[in-house]
Amino acid sequence: MDGELCRMCGGDGRVGNALGGSSVTCPSCHGSGRRAEASPGFHDVTKTKPSHHRPAVAIPTGPRGPTTAEGAQLALEVSASTVLAEDAKARLLAEIVNHESTHGRCTRTFIKKVRKQTRLGR
Ligand SMILES: [Zn+2]
Repeated sequence: MDGELCRMCGGDGRVGNALGGSSVTCPSCHGSGRRAEASPGFHDVTKTKPSHHRPAVAIPTGPRGPTTAEGAQLALEVSASTVLAEDAKARLLAEIVNHESTHGRCTRTFIKKVRKQTRLGR
């Protein structure tokens, strides 16, 4: 199809000023009188906005923590550690939870391993 008429100006490339004065170049077709493939506004909304919906870091619903007494104790020690960086703490806490879920409890070896890390440098 060779050019549908611009819907905004009807094909003459100009639109009347709402206040009744001079007409101005049609903002939709920029004076060509032909309908654009897709109006810029429409295009923007559908094509370039998905990033807008990008979710924040996946946050599990509800606090997920150790379920055993040893795990809870270990988590406390990790949190209280003065030698671990925040990201290292988060990693260890996740490890504790993960370890519990696979082993059902915290093994002695695991507890030792984690404790050692909370005390590095002391
Ligand atoms: Zn137009």
